[in-house]
Amino acid sequence: MYPSIEKLQKYVRLEAKNGYDNKAIIGGLASMLETWESEARNDGIAEEIIQAVTGRLRDYEGLSSESRRVTLFGIGNRLKREFPELGDEKPLPAQPEVAPFEESESTPQQEIPPQEESDSQEESAPQEESAPQQESDQQREPVHRPARPRSESVPGASTSETPIALNAVLTVLQGVGPRNATTLENLGLFTLRDMLYNFPRRYDDYSELKPIKSLWYGEQVTVIGSVQSATGRPIRGGKSHITDVIIGDGTGALRLTWFNQPWLTNRFRQGMGISVSGKIDQYLGRLVMKSPEWELVDTENLHTNRIVPIYALTKKITQKWLRKQMNQVISHWAPKITDHLPESVRLTAKLPRLDTALLNVHFPKTQAHLKLARERLAFDEIFFLQMGVLRQKQDWQSIMGRIFDVPEEWLQTRKDALPFTLTSVQEKAVSDIVMDFGSGRPMNRLLQGDVGSGKTVVAAMAIEIIAHAGAQSAIMAPTSILAEQHYRSLSEMLIVGEDALQESEIRLLVGDTPAIRKQEIREGLLDGSVKVIVGTHALIQGPVEFADLQLAIVDEQHRFGVDQRSALREKGENLHLMVMTATPIPRSLALTVHGDLDISVMDELPSGRKPIETHVLRPRERERAYTMIRAQVLDGKQAFIIYPLVEESEKIEARAAVKEHESLQAEVFHKLNVGLLHGRMKPAEKDEVMEKFRAKEYDILVATTVVEVGVDVPNATVMLIEGADRFGLAQLHQLRGRVGRGLDKSYCLLIPTDNDDTENERLLAMAESNDGFVLAEKDLQQRGPGDFLGTRQSGYGTGLRMASLTDIDLIEKARKRAQVIFAQDANLEKEEHKLLGEALDHFWGDTKGDMS
Ligand code: ADP
Ligand code: MG
Repeated sequence: MYPSIEKLQKYVRLEAKNGYDNKAIIGGLASMLETWESEARNDGIAEEIIQAVTGRLRDYEGLSSESRRVTLFGIGNRLKREFPELGDEKPLPAQPEVAPFEESESTPQQEIPPQEESDSQEESAPQEESAPQQESDQQREPVHRPARPRSESVPGASTSETPIALNAVLTVLQGVGPRNATTLENLGLFTLRDMLYNFPRRYDDYSELKPIKSLWYGEQVTVIGSVQSATGRPIRGGKSHITDVIIGDGTGALRLTWFNQPWLTNRFRQGMGISVSGKIDQYLGRLVMKSPEWELVDTENLHTNRIVPIYALTKKITQKWLRKQMNQVISHWAPKITDHLPESVRLTAKLPRLDTALLNVHFPKTQAHLKLARERLAFDEIFFLQMGVLRQKQDWQSIMGRIFDVPEEWLQTRKDALPFTLTSVQEKAVSDIVMDFGSGRPMNRLLQGDVGSGKTVVAAMAIEIIAHAGAQSAIMAPTSILAEQHYRSLSEMLIVGEDALQESEIRLLVGDTPAIRKQEIREGLLDGSVKVIVGTHALIQGPVEFADLQLAIVDEQHRFGVDQRSALREKGENLHLMVMTATPIPRSLALTVHGDLDISVMDELPSGRKPIETHVLRPRERERAYTMIRAQVLDGKQAFIIYPLVEESEKIEARAAVKEHESLQAEVFHKLNVGLLHGRMKPAEKDEVMEKFRAKEYDILVATTVVEVGVDVPNATVMLIEGADRFGLAQLHQLRGRVGRGLDKSYCLLIPTDNDDTENERLLAMAESNDGFVLAEKDLQQRGPGDFLGTRQSGYGTGLRMASLTDIDLIEKARKRAQVIFAQDANLEKEEHKLLGEALDHFWGDTKGDMS
């Protein structure tokens, strides 16, 4: 474990224990950042993690305690993700809403019997009567959510016409006293409004149940009935035991049997409502169900609501109790909600009114009602997202950007100086950029191209145009390896040929750059003698100032936080911005999340590239992989071998790069040169290793995922990934993209941890497709948009509760309607748009979100 991370973890815990009063450290949490930052660097913690931590904690003091909690929770999560071994010993708080950062397992709350829960006028919310039921919802589905108001991110949760009474706290409800109210806060339920927007997690549909009298032999069904009798007795001379339960539903009786589960008998009581699922059998001419699945049902509810909402629960309350409270609120308040959506939009989109939708999302009469209600609520989410995006684009475009004219002939001369001819998609991207530069508006462009599509040269052309006019450009990369590589390849392209830049006009700035040189570079940037700066986060840290920064480029933009991107942008005034990504963004996502950006897609690889041949091998076939690597090396090529972790951990049996490197060098490839690269090395050491690999001093590079992004060594033709099942699809595709960058045929070999994992869906997908776009779609489907986007993509995607970013029809419908409204009345000044305007303001807050 890394001391810096342990220390951080300790502070975070302490802070949580103290109730986020910022006293865990004298002088406040932020006061330790400087020291911590350098300690973390010494530990070899990835720069982006360091930035994520410091970025979040810097303003800690100014935050409300709730925001502090959320901030620390975010950090905790991040650390857990990055250092899985952390979670194994002392779990960081994954669920602070239950027992924030509690270290001890048994919290005193659990020991308090439910009776003591009830306040004087408070109806108690006891555990289900038949508490031992394993199947009760209480135990099966405890879902804990952040204690943040439910309605916070709901479109239209608040306008001037929303009844003020909805702000009332929950103790106004009959049966809810201070204690229960506190419990409900764990679910994010603070006010009546929060209740209204506390959508069910799922529904139990009893509307299509079969009455017992119409059951058929052989049918697979779910039946509901109440228990008439339950008996247990030994059979086969005491060798076996049978439990016999008879249930009835008014139309007939059904016999249920279970074998050798004697304890079951006592779980059933006469009159208890249960639902059973299984196959109808027969015995002596009567229908029976053998060993059915069963669970308790709430008979009371059956008759009123055939589709029963199931809500997220927390400790100490039951489904039944919460549903009752919800019913109180919904039936009274939903009809009083005024719709914020203009009638015209609603009717064209064929959607129900908001009050109807709210009623039906909680207590739907039929599946059709429910579907429409969900559609309406999902529509609102996407519609609000789109309206925000359109506004933002408008804001952006109302700003002036400096015009850079690009002489055709000059541009051609510069293209001619390149070592290769641009592909048609590169040409198109360059001309998009030229157009932006001439528009008088700041460029705000996403350059999206699969790994190896050649984005760097496009960036180089943009940089040249700016430099030619005497202004400055900055390009920021997520790792020092990548910054170093960009510096090298950009220099090569920019300093050759006619009208080229001087070598001294291009500089590299990373965390590791010696202080003296940093100073010199800063001076050069300030007096304008440095035209191009290539770097990492170091560019946005500290006192880096520019004479005239006009172009900012962010490579692998998804690796940066929103704040970091805007920090770079702030280094110039209304500068042109280009973000580059190799994450192929499915169309549905691009339209919503990146709707404010213009997009250039490079969907064609430079010619002569051969598809990478991908094979999934069993661990015991490893020798075959080694043989292939030897053959390729003999042929003058190089190989990567990737391991998922740096050090062996008992819990996670990933093979460790450090040890593997030793044994590979000594035993497997003793005649070859094997290099080692991992995240705990200092940036300078990493650069040195990469340098040697590039210079072919190493035939094989054993590495962790530090090579994941951007590394470009065209002579490498084999990518062997160990423990491949541990990687995500996007990551595997990125890693694979490190080979196949030259003209030679390349191979990707995937070896999972266990033999069984060769059937792993992701690995099979990899073997099937080389197309990042196809894989991204698959990834999006498998993981859902929240995970896909990652937490760093501000709140987008994750704020969606009803809508799915894979629902392209809905997205297009909402987008269309947003565009129409926007075209008519961009500032929503018309009377019929007034409520919508208010709802939008409330939804987006004052913050001008930066989505790029
Ligand atoms: P990425 O889009 O993944 O960042 P790079 O910019 O690193 O890709 O380019 C990948 C490789 O392709 C580099 O070695 C680069 O020199 C080469 N390359 C880029 N454009 C072309 C082209 N038009 N023809 C041939 N090779 C190219
Ligand atoms: Mg790249």
